[in-house]
Amino acid sequence: DGRDTVLTVTGLGKRYRGGRDNTWALRDCSFTLPAGSVTALVGMNGAGKTTLLSILAGLLTPTAGHLTLPSTGQGGADGARIAFVAQEKPLYRYFSVADMLQVGARLNRVWDQERALRWLRRFDIPLDRACGRLSGGQQAQVNFAIALGSRPSVLLLDEPVSTLDPLARSEVTAELLTEAADTGMTVLLSTHVVGELVGVADHLLLLAKGRLLAAGEIDTLLENHLHYVGPRADV
Ligand code: ATP
Repeated sequence: DGRDTVLTVTGLGKRYRGGRDNTWALRDCSFTLPAGSVTALVGMNGAGKTTLLSILAGLLTPTAGHLTLPSTGQGGADGARIAFVAQEKPLYRYFSVADMLQVGARLNRVWDQERALRWLRRFDIPLDRACGRLSGGQQAQVNFAIALGSRPSVLLLDEPVSTLDPLARSEVTAELLTEAADTGMTVLLSTHVVGELVGVADHLLLLAKGRLLAAGEIDTLLENHLHYVGPRADV
Protein backbone atom coordinates (compact mmCIF):
# COMPACT_ATOMS: atom_id res chain seq x y z
CA ASP A 1 0.00 0.00 0.00
CA GLY A 2 2.89 2.31 -0.76
CA ARG A 3 4.27 2.36 2.75
CA ASP A 4 7.85 1.40 3.52
CA THR A 5 8.46 -2.11 4.70
CA VAL A 6 10.16 -2.67 8.05
CA LEU A 7 10.33 -6.42 7.90
CA THR A 8 10.32 -8.93 5.06
CA VAL A 9 9.88 -12.63 5.74
CA THR A 10 10.69 -15.10 3.00
CA GLY A 11 9.90 -18.81 3.00
CA LEU A 12 10.20 -19.07 6.74
CA GLY A 13 9.90 -22.57 8.19
CA LYS A 14 10.49 -24.26 11.52
CA ARG A 15 10.70 -27.91 12.40
CA TYR A 16 11.34 -28.68 16.04
CA ARG A 17 13.78 -31.44 16.87
CA GLY A 18 11.78 -34.25 18.38
CA GLY A 19 8.56 -32.49 17.49
CA ARG A 20 5.48 -34.58 16.87
CA ASP A 21 5.83 -36.63 13.64
CA ASN A 22 8.73 -34.38 12.73
CA THR A 23 6.14 -32.01 11.29
CA TRP A 24 6.72 -28.40 10.48
CA ALA A 25 5.44 -26.02 13.15
CA LEU A 26 5.83 -23.31 10.53
CA ARG A 27 5.92 -23.85 6.77
CA ASP A 28 6.89 -21.59 3.91
CA CYS A 29 5.69 -18.30 5.38
CA SER A 30 6.28 -15.14 3.37
CA PHE A 31 4.95 -11.69 4.17
CA THR A 32 5.97 -8.10 4.83
CA LEU A 33 5.18 -5.69 7.63
CA PRO A 34 4.50 -2.16 6.38
CA ALA A 35 6.04 0.58 8.50
CA GLY A 36 3.68 1.89 11.13
CA SER A 37 1.13 -0.86 10.59
CA VAL A 38 -0.67 -2.79 13.29
CA THR A 39 -0.84 -6.39 12.16
CA ALA A 40 -2.85 -9.12 13.83
CA LEU A 41 -1.41 -12.62 13.75
CA VAL A 42 -4.46 -14.82 14.06
CA GLY A 43 -4.54 -18.57 14.55
CA MET A 44 -5.84 -21.31 16.78
CA ASN A 45 -3.78 -22.87 19.55
CA GLY A 46 -0.81 -24.62 18.02
CA ALA A 47 -1.05 -22.77 14.70
CA GLY A 48 2.53 -21.57 15.06
CA LYS A 49 2.07 -18.01 16.31
CA THR A 50 4.60 -18.24 19.14
CA THR A 51 7.05 -20.02 16.85
CA LEU A 52 6.81 -17.26 14.24
CA LEU A 53 7.11 -14.43 16.78
CA SER A 54 10.06 -16.12 18.48
CA ILE A 55 11.90 -16.35 15.16
CA LEU A 56 11.19 -12.70 14.40
CA ALA A 57 12.44 -11.79 17.87
CA GLY A 58 15.66 -13.69 17.23
CA LEU A 59 15.02 -16.19 20.01
CA LEU A 60 14.59 -19.17 17.71
CA THR A 61 16.52 -20.18 14.60
CA PRO A 62 14.39 -20.95 11.54
CA THR A 63 14.85 -24.30 9.81
CA ALA A 64 14.17 -22.68 6.43
CA GLY A 65 13.85 -19.22 4.95
CA HIS A 66 15.02 -15.88 6.27
CA LEU A 67 13.93 -12.45 7.37
CA THR A 68 15.22 -9.10 6.26
CA LEU A 69 15.28 -5.91 8.27
CA PRO A 70 16.26 -2.79 6.36
CA SER A 71 18.53 -1.57 9.13
CA THR A 72 20.63 1.48 8.42
CA GLY A 73 23.83 0.91 10.49
CA GLN A 74 25.09 -2.37 11.80
CA GLY A 75 23.18 -2.60 15.05
CA GLY A 76 23.49 1.15 15.44
CA ALA A 77 20.99 3.22 17.36
CA ASP A 78 19.22 4.06 14.11
CA GLY A 79 18.85 0.40 13.10
CA ALA A 80 15.66 -1.56 13.57
CA ARG A 81 14.96 -2.44 17.17
CA ILE A 82 12.64 -5.32 17.90
CA ALA A 83 10.94 -5.71 21.27
CA PHE A 84 9.15 -8.93 22.15
CA VAL A 85 6.59 -9.34 24.90
CA ALA A 86 6.21 -13.08 25.37
CA GLN A 87 3.07 -14.70 26.71
CA GLU A 88 4.70 -15.63 29.98
CA LYS A 89 7.27 -13.17 31.14
CA PRO A 90 8.01 -13.63 34.78
CA LEU A 91 9.20 -10.55 36.60
CA TYR A 92 11.48 -10.70 39.61
CA ARG A 93 8.96 -11.21 42.40
CA TYR A 94 10.82 -9.29 45.08
CA PHE A 95 11.81 -6.40 42.82
CA SER A 96 9.65 -3.31 42.92
CA VAL A 97 8.23 -2.02 39.64
CA ALA A 98 10.80 0.79 39.75
CA ASP A 99 13.60 -1.79 40.20
CA MET A 100 12.23 -3.72 37.22
CA LEU A 101 12.51 -0.59 35.09
CA GLN A 102 16.16 -0.34 36.16
CA VAL A 103 16.67 -3.87 34.88
CA GLY A 104 15.02 -2.81 31.61
CA ALA A 105 17.31 0.20 31.41
CA ARG A 106 20.38 -2.01 31.90
CA LEU A 107 19.33 -4.67 29.42
CA ASN A 108 18.45 -2.33 26.58
CA ARG A 109 20.85 -0.41 24.42
CA VAL A 110 18.35 2.39 24.06
CA TRP A 111 16.13 3.35 26.97
CA ASP A 112 13.37 5.92 27.37
CA GLN A 113 12.50 5.96 31.06
CA GLU A 114 9.85 8.65 30.62
CA ARG A 115 7.98 6.58 28.07
CA ALA A 116 7.97 3.54 30.35
CA LEU A 117 6.78 5.64 33.28
CA ARG A 118 4.05 7.25 31.22
CA TRP A 119 2.60 3.87 30.42
CA LEU A 120 2.65 2.76 34.07
CA ARG A 121 1.04 6.00 35.22
CA ARG A 122 -1.67 5.69 32.63
CA PHE A 123 -2.71 2.38 34.17
CA ASP A 124 -2.06 3.35 37.79
CA ILE A 125 0.66 0.79 38.41
CA PRO A 126 2.33 1.57 41.75
CA LEU A 127 6.09 1.95 41.22
CA ASP A 128 7.00 0.90 44.76
CA ARG A 129 4.96 -2.31 44.72
CA ALA A 130 6.84 -5.62 44.59
CA CYS A 131 6.16 -7.26 41.21
CA GLY A 132 5.07 -10.47 42.93
CA ARG A 133 2.25 -8.57 44.58
CA LEU A 134 0.83 -7.20 41.34
CA SER A 135 -2.15 -8.79 39.62
CA GLY A 136 -1.51 -10.74 36.42
CA GLY A 137 -2.83 -7.84 34.38
CA GLN A 138 -0.59 -5.36 36.19
CA GLN A 139 2.42 -7.59 35.59
CA ALA A 140 1.56 -7.60 31.90
CA GLN A 141 1.50 -3.79 32.04
CA VAL A 142 5.02 -3.73 33.49
CA ASN A 143 6.16 -5.90 30.59
CA PHE A 144 4.51 -3.54 28.09
CA ALA A 145 6.16 -0.56 29.79
CA ILE A 146 9.61 -2.15 29.58
CA ALA A 147 9.05 -3.08 25.93
CA LEU A 148 7.99 0.50 25.11
CA GLY A 149 10.90 1.92 27.11
CA SER A 150 13.29 0.16 24.74
CA ARG A 151 11.88 2.38 21.97
CA PRO A 152 11.32 -0.43 19.50
CA SER A 153 10.68 0.21 15.84
CA VAL A 154 8.94 -3.17 15.77
CA LEU A 155 6.91 -4.37 18.75
CA LEU A 156 5.99 -8.06 18.86
CA LEU A 157 3.29 -9.10 21.33
CA ASP A 158 2.32 -12.71 21.94
CA GLU A 159 -1.35 -12.81 22.96
CA PRO A 160 -0.90 -9.55 24.85
CA VAL A 161 -4.42 -9.21 26.12
CA SER A 162 -4.97 -12.79 27.26
CA THR A 163 -3.75 -11.93 30.76
CA LEU A 164 -5.84 -8.79 31.08
CA ASP A 165 -9.40 -8.47 32.30
CA PRO A 166 -11.92 -7.59 29.58
CA LEU A 167 -12.15 -3.97 30.64
CA ALA A 168 -8.39 -3.40 30.46
CA ARG A 169 -8.15 -5.19 27.10
CA SER A 170 -9.73 -2.61 24.89
CA GLU A 171 -7.98 0.18 26.75
CA VAL A 172 -4.57 -1.41 26.37
CA THR A 173 -5.01 -2.21 22.69
CA ALA A 174 -6.29 1.32 22.07
CA GLU A 175 -3.31 2.81 23.91
CA LEU A 176 -0.89 0.62 22.00
CA LEU A 177 -2.46 1.86 18.79
CA THR A 178 -2.00 5.45 19.89
CA GLU A 179 1.63 4.75 20.79
CA ALA A 180 2.14 3.19 17.37
CA ALA A 181 0.53 6.11 15.58
CA ASP A 182 2.46 8.70 17.62
CA THR A 183 5.87 7.09 17.23
CA GLY A 184 5.67 5.32 13.88
CA MET A 185 6.18 2.02 15.66
CA THR A 186 5.16 -1.14 13.80
CA VAL A 187 3.14 -3.62 15.83
CA LEU A 188 2.57 -7.33 15.33
CA LEU A 189 0.33 -8.97 17.89
CA SER A 190 -1.00 -12.49 18.05
CA THR A 191 -4.40 -13.63 19.19
CA HIS A 192 -6.84 -16.47 18.79
CA VAL A 193 -9.78 -14.18 19.51
CA VAL A 194 -10.44 -12.37 16.25
CA GLY A 195 -13.13 -10.14 17.75
CA GLU A 196 -10.46 -8.42 19.83
CA LEU A 197 -8.94 -6.92 16.74
CA VAL A 198 -11.87 -5.30 15.07
CA GLY A 199 -11.00 -1.65 14.72
CA VAL A 200 -7.53 -2.23 16.15
CA ALA A 201 -5.39 -3.90 13.52
CA ASP A 202 -5.12 -2.71 9.92
CA HIS A 203 -3.33 -5.80 8.60
CA LEU A 204 -3.93 -9.47 9.16
CA LEU A 205 -1.86 -12.66 9.02
CA LEU A 206 -3.96 -15.80 9.20
CA LEU A 207 -2.03 -18.87 10.31
CA ALA A 208 -3.33 -22.45 10.38
CA LYS A 209 -1.21 -25.52 11.07
CA GLY A 210 1.93 -23.57 10.40
CA ARG A 211 0.81 -22.23 7.04
CA LEU A 212 -0.11 -18.70 6.15
CA LEU A 213 -3.62 -18.80 4.70
CA ALA A 214 -4.03 -15.07 4.19
CA ALA A 215 -1.92 -11.95 4.54
CA GLY A 216 -2.73 -8.36 3.79
CA GLU A 217 -4.93 -5.42 4.63
CA ILE A 218 -7.85 -6.39 6.84
CA ASP A 219 -10.42 -4.47 4.81
CA THR A 220 -9.39 -6.15 1.58
CA LEU A 221 -9.25 -9.59 3.18
CA LEU A 222 -12.66 -9.23 4.77
CA GLU A 223 -14.19 -8.19 1.46
CA ASN A 224 -12.74 -11.23 -0.27
CA HIS A 225 -13.53 -13.71 2.48
CA LEU A 226 -17.00 -12.60 3.46
CA HIS A 227 -18.38 -16.05 2.74
CA TYR A 228 -16.20 -17.37 5.58
CA VAL A 229 -17.86 -15.17 8.14
CA GLY A 230 -20.49 -17.77 8.93
CA PRO A 231 -24.25 -18.08 8.95
CA ARG A 232 -25.99 -14.90 7.94
CA ALA A 233 -28.10 -13.30 10.60
CA ASP A 234 -30.71 -12.09 8.15
CA VAL A 235 -31.85 -15.42 6.70
P1 ATP B 1 -0.64 -21.14 21.34
O1 ATP B 1 -1.75 -20.24 21.01
O2 ATP B 1 -1.09 -22.37 22.09
O3 ATP B 1 0.53 -20.48 21.99
P2 ATP B 1 0.76 -21.12 18.84
O4 ATP B 1 -0.08 -20.72 17.69
O5 ATP B 1 1.61 -20.06 19.46
O6 ATP B 1 -0.14 -21.79 19.95
P3 ATP B 1 3.17 -22.65 18.69
O7 ATP B 1 3.39 -22.56 20.16
O8 ATP B 1 4.06 -21.87 17.83
O9 ATP B 1 1.66 -22.32 18.34
O10 ATP B 1 3.25 -24.18 18.28
C1 ATP B 1 3.18 -24.64 16.93
C2 ATP B 1 3.43 -26.13 16.88
O11 ATP B 1 4.76 -26.43 17.25
C3 ATP B 1 2.55 -26.93 17.84
O12 ATP B 1 2.17 -28.12 17.20
C4 ATP B 1 3.46 -27.23 19.00
O13 ATP B 1 3.10 -28.41 19.63
C5 ATP B 1 4.83 -27.33 18.35
N1 ATP B 1 5.91 -26.89 19.25
C6 ATP B 1 6.03 -25.69 19.83
N2 ATP B 1 7.16 -25.59 20.55
C7 ATP B 1 7.78 -26.79 20.44
C8 ATP B 1 9.00 -27.36 20.94
N3 ATP B 1 9.82 -26.63 21.71
N4 ATP B 1 9.30 -28.62 20.60
C9 ATP B 1 8.49 -29.37 19.80
N5 ATP B 1 7.34 -28.90 19.28
C10 ATP B 1 6.98 -27.64 19.59
